[in-house]
Amino acid sequence: MAVVVAASSETRAAEFDSERASVLGCRDCRLAETRIQVVYGAGNPNAELLFVGEAPGFHEDQQGLPFVGAAGKLLSRLLGDIGLAREDVFIANVLKCRPPGNRDPLQDEIDACQKHLFRQIELIQPRVVATLGNFATKLLSSNPAGITRVHGVEQPIVLGGSRVLLYPLFHPAAALYTQAMLAVLEEDFRRIPELIAHQLDPTQGVSVAETAAVSVEPAETENPDLQLGLF
Ligand code: URA
Repeated sequence: MAVVVAASSETRAAEFDSERASVLGCRDCRLAETRIQVVYGAGNPNAELLFVGEAPGFHEDQQGLPFVGAAGKLLSRLLGDIGLAREDVFIANVLKCRPPGNRDPLQDEIDACQKHLFRQIELIQPRVVATLGNFATKLLSSNPAGITRVHGVEQPIVLGGSRVLLYPLFHPAAALYTQAMLAVLEEDFRRIPELIAHQLDPTQGVSVAETAAVSVEPAETENPDLQLGLF
């Protein structure tokens, strides 16, 4: 009979620290030439809730931490509204390095970087993965449908070897500019505690997204100037 031994929390913490240390030196794509530093992610490495954003912006690159600009302040406020602090969750991005001028991530950069995100998911083993915006949603769902169509609809899926609920949300940076989008984001956020408490049905069919099979199209921004203002 096979005996499955769960990794102790110390082992997981040590693996997490060693993974973080190795990613901090990553030079697998052109962004290594222009970044100040790798933004690995921050928060609780045993979190039940993982947020995945797009990429570090100017302030994140300066400070080495995710979501520290205006979008980050909104994210902290939305978390507070549902009784959570940043220390309760883990916050990561599709790309760990800032694209110059905050341009959209390029497909080869996403291809080079996604292994770090999948390893983070494997180590954190969250119950809910909340994707913020188009890039994270399309990558982790392996579905090209845009965020406007899929936000607020949870989906059981296997990611990084674990069953999780994938929960697409509008990107907080986009909600900073559009009041109607902010109201939708707030409403979608309110369902997060219920999703964390949700027991995944082991018999329910899941799709597997260990590595992304889709090309991630540029974000759907109604205002072409918005991308540069997102961060
Ligand atoms: N800051 C981040 O760290 N990620 C984003 O997607 C936007 C701002």
